[in-house]
Parts: sequence; C-alpha cells; structure tokens
Amino acid sequence: MHSTMILLGVLFGLLCQAYTLPVKNSTGLHEAKVRLRRTYSGGISNEFTDHDHDDMNAMDQILEVNRRLRFLRGMSFRDGDIASSYFRSAITCPGNACLWPKAVDGFVYVPFMLSPIYEDMDRITIETGMQDITAGTCIRFVPRTQEASFLDIQPRYGCWSFLGQTGGSQTLSLQTPGCMWSGVAAHEFMHALGFVHEQSRSDRDHYVSIVWKNIMADQAHNFRKQATNNLNSPYDYNSVMHYGRYAFSEDGGPTIIPRPDPYVPIGQRDGPSNLDLHKINVLYNCGVN
Ligand SMILES: [Zn+2]
Repeated sequence: MHSTMILLGVLFGLLCQAYTLPVKNSTGLHEAKVRLRRTYSGGISNEFTDHDHDDMNAMDQILEVNRRLRFLRGMSFRDGDIASSYFRSAITCPGNACLWPKAVDGFVYVPFMLSPIYEDMDRITIETGMQDITAGTCIRFVPRTQEASFLDIQPRYGCWSFLGQTGGSQTLSLQTPGCMWSGVAAHEFMHALGFVHEQSRSDRDHYVSIVWKNIMADQAHNFRKQATNNLNSPYDYNSVMHYGRYAFSEDGGPTIIPRPDPYVPIGQRDGPSNLDLHKINVLYNCGVN
C-alpha cells in the first residue's frame, strides 16, 4: 500500500512536470503563427509610457528594442532605425539608383541571406513579413544564389535597415526576440525598398501636429520632414511605417497628434497596410513590364 502511494506520487509529479515544460519546438508552425500577431512576451518593459503593449505599433516596438542604439561599429542611425552612411531616400534617388531593379518578367527580385543563427520560429516570423509584402505587390524576396546585391538578414543589436538598395551586401538587423514580429520585419523591409517613415512625408503637417515640447531634448532630429515623393497617395495613419503617438516622448506626453481628428489611431503592428502595398506598387511600377 505504502509503495503504491509513493508510485502514484511520483507519477503525479511527473505529470505536473510535463505540463509545465516549455513547449518550444513542439508546436512549431501554430505557435509561430500565434506569436506573429501578438506582442512578444519577452518581458520588455516600457519605461517611457504606461500604455498597454496591445496599443504598441511596429515602430513603438522598434524604438524600445533600439533604445540604446546610437552608433554601432562605425555606423549611425537616424529616425530610430534607418542605418547610414546612406543618407538618401530611394523615393528621391537620382535616376532611381537605389531602387531594386525590375526583371523582364515584371517582378522585382530582392535576394536575401538569412543568418543560420535564427531558430525556426524566427525564420517563419521573418518570412511572414516578406510574404505580407509579396502577396500584394510585384516584390519577390528570393534566397540569394550569386547576386551581387542582397539583404544580409542578421540578429544584430536592434531592428534596423539601410534605406533602399545600397549595392553589394547590405545588413538588415532583426534582433531576436525583440524584433520578432512579422510587422516589424515588414517595416524594415519597406526601408530596404526605399521608404522612410510615414510622418516624415513632406506633406505631414496637414495631417499630424508634432508636439515639439514633449520630445526628448536630443531627439527632435527624428521628426525632420523629408523631401519625399508622396506617390500621389493619401497620408496613411494606418501605415506600418508610422511612428506611434508617444515616440521619443520626454515625459509620457504625446509627440504626434493627428489632425483635425486627434483620436484617429496611428500605426499598427500587423503588417503593411493596403496603402503601404499600394505605394510599393506605384514606386516599383508593378503591373507595368
Ligand atoms: Zn523605421
């Protein structure tokens, strides 16, 4: 009787342990898909605001991960996640030299290499970010074979990209786990395609007010307007490229307020909006061989 009780106890203990074991790798695709659409639960704290993580858009997440990102081995960053020395926008590039070239079949092939350090779930998240762009445009991300110009996707420190095609190997960093949202990946891919942030548009003052007094003293440069070609597209509060309402806030007050209606939600983290896809199609002349 006594030994039966011990045996039952051991069995019960094992069962409990099995239930509390991490499920990593055992649920594969399903778990990764769930993770794509929610905040990564890696315990990242938000010291600037007390807003719920569910309110965070892609750029809010990027700025949290990049908080200490200023310089990285000779590189510098502007607007939170755009790597330079390539201080240019594909949209205003002379002769469109920093757009990715279009093939004779009408598609724009963007070769990439993905670091072997990424785990399966990371790869699925990143590839979902690619698919969300390719599903609505003529862009095609393809594994690099011997192309000279390509994206070298690595889990370096932070989430960032160069602007447009720089020529040769160009690093695009998606740190894991901080940058592992498909919307964050799509945001960085749109930089690599040549897009700046939505509120950097030349016409943004018609659509948002920048609250300069609420911006951290040394961060005002992140709110500069760019001489963008707006591709005859309406301003898009829902763009995956839009800063959040509290970006670079000094004390938790809003730094961007939509106008005339201040309550319009700005940005999101799911992926490119319909207008984002439209703008890619216009910039790359998709549908025109
Ligand atoms: Zn960005």
